Amino acid sequence: MGKCRQIAIDGPAGAGKSTVAKRIAEQLGWLYIDTGAMYRAVALLALRRGVALDDAAALTALAERAKIDLLPAKQGCRVLLDGEDVSTEIRLPEVGNAASPVSAVAGVRQALVRQQQELAASRPVVMDGRDIGTVVLPDAPCKVFLTASPQIRAARRAAELKAKGLPADLQQIEQEMRERDARDSNRKYSPLRQAADAHFLDSSTLDIDAVVAQIIAWAEACA
Ligand code: C5P
Repeated sequence: MGKCRQIAIDGPAGAGKSTVAKRIAEQLGWLYIDTGAMYRAVALLALRRGVALDDAAALTALAERAKIDLLPAKQGCRVLLDGEDVSTEIRLPEVGNAASPVSAVAGVRQALVRQQQELAASRPVVMDGRDIGTVVLPDAPCKVFLTASPQIRAARRAAELKAKGLPADLQQIEQEMRERDARDSNRKYSPLRQAADAHFLDSSTLDIDAVVAQIIAWAEACA
């Protein structure tokens, strides 16, 4: 892999970022950091505490005080919030929907981006999210913007939920995904966008193996 020690993967909801990033990290023996899980953990805390999703000061205080640990696990990362395993709960659609307004708060982003940069300083990482190539790891040698058609992304998310025994209404998922992507793309701070030096990859017609192989080939080439 030469000098490449960071792979940054950004893209909209349901593009397959987490699955692919985790596989690449496993294959390379690197750390996988699921930044979406960190925003979801803060959103879960806000929902539990009844903090309004537009109360920037209260949300910032939550993000600054929460202790979020990401532990490597078979299914992506195990996520500990103040020591409690919330890995399953943060995947609920209502937590994902709440994570979007929570992540639009500048103070929340500052607190979490700092932690993400600290994690990446110690080891080679594969990190996925919305602003990794643009803000968190702007010097990452290998950046990828991973997307897929809205229909395919919604179908993948529905399949994921069904596999976990959770209810999944395809039309509702597609509608919520569009709203979330629009909010993530149009927010003031760190909107979802492709970094100028990122590779664009549409996974609509590719399977996971093909996406993983392509990104590893890019990482090897850019090293
Ligand atoms: O990737 P995932 O769906 O778990 O992310 C949940 C939400 O967290 C996203 O919709 C987005 O609003 C936010 N997020 C973000 N920046 C990141 C990762 C996630 O704003 N780096």
